[in-house]
Amino acid sequence: MLQVNENRQKIIKTIPPHVELVAVSKNKTDDDILELYKHGHRVFGESKVQELVPKYENLPGDIKWHMVGHLQRNKVKYIAPFIDMIESVDSLKLLKEIDKEAGKNNRTIKCLFQIHIAEEESKFGMSFDDVCQIFDGDDYKNMNNVSVVGLMGMATFTDDENQVRKEFKTLKSIFDKLKEKYFKSDDDFSEISMGMSNDYIIGIEEGSTMVRIGTALFGER
Ligand SMILES: *Cc1c(COP(=O)(O)O)cnc(C)c1O
Repeated sequence: MLQVNENRQKIIKTIPPHVELVAVSKNKTDDDILELYKHGHRVFGESKVQELVPKYENLPGDIKWHMVGHLQRNKVKYIAPFIDMIESVDSLKLLKEIDKEAGKNNRTIKCLFQIHIAEEESKFGMSFDDVCQIFDGDDYKNMNNVSVVGLMGMATFTDDENQVRKEFKTLKSIFDKLKEKYFKSDDDFSEISMGMSNDYIIGIEEGSTMVRIGTALFGER
């Protein structure tokens, strides 16, 4: 387990200071998380509500939890009281539900829109046009308890670096277009979450501000 913090130190050396390291702790124990916590790490990512809620309940209250996996609308209520950021918002309906549940808790929840950039059909996410439809619509204008602070994307799972780089470039260009169109004078829209254990270096080279790393920190799941 000591290895976990050594891994973190090594990874941090490869990440510029403006890039946030989200430690993806899915399938890992409370002790694994505490091992990083005691060395000062505070931002952790989980992909399942039923795993996230007990971890939140058992672990220190100043951990910032990010939801990174696909989120069903009927489960938003369980994480709305505490979640720091939902990185995987992939529909207007989901965003509306988050806004509603955040309101009940008197909170504002930071959200990223997940953009589909991979070749695989199975990966969730929206297109540039889908996002424009949300930002142009009345529903969005009436939301008071969500703050859309950027985008998230997952590249195709492949050894082909050029393919991954191309997909990250696509995400960056979608971010730039949305920023220009909707957030020109709003610094809150600033995050691009791209890069996992085997492609985060490419992600950072292509403009990532947030990397979501599991295996390279905690070992194989
Ligand atoms: C599991 C997961 C990660 C971390 O993947 P690793 O390859 O283990 O670093 C990142 N993002 C999402 C959305 C995940 O589900």
